Amino acid sequence: MRITIDEDKCCGAGQCVLAAPEVFDQRDEDGVVVLLDAEPPAEQHAAVTEAAQICPAAAIALA
Ligand code: SF4
Repeated sequence: MRITIDEDKCCGAGQCVLAAPEVFDQRDEDGVVVLLDAEPPAEQHAAVTEAAQICPAAAIALA
C-alpha cells in the first residue's frame, strides 16, 4: 500500500487522524494533514482504508 495526499483538497477535518493516528497527523498551524508513513505496514491497512473512505475532501489516495 502506498498513500498519497492532496494538501490542496484537505480541509483539516481530522477524520483521518482519528481513524489512523499512527499514519496521519495534522499541522498545528492550519490543520492540514501530515503523512507520517506513506507505506504503512499491513496492520495499518484497514485503518488507512477507512481513513481514505471517510475523508470528507477525498484527499487521501491509495495505490
Ligand atoms: S480526513 Fe481528509 S480533509 Fe480531514 S484532515 Fe484528513 S486528509 Fe484532510
